[in-house]
Amino acid sequence: MVDPTSDLGEDVTEENAPRCSTCGDPIVQDPTHRVITWVENDDVQTAHFCDDSCRSQWDGQ
Ligand SMILES: [Zn+2]
Repeated sequence: MVDPTSDLGEDVTEENAPRCSTCGDPIVQDPTHRVITWVENDDVQTAHFCDDSCRSQWDGQ
């Protein structure tokens, strides 16, 4: 059951946290967390990263 009012907020646990697209670590209330979004085939894609370092290492698939 997903609470539609919570968005990567206080209820994030390791089980439902997004994973860093570079190192795979769960991102739980990480203040250095980065998110990028882009549109691909009319869908919005999202990639999460722990910090700028992982962001810059991402190969972008
Ligand atoms: Zn990472």
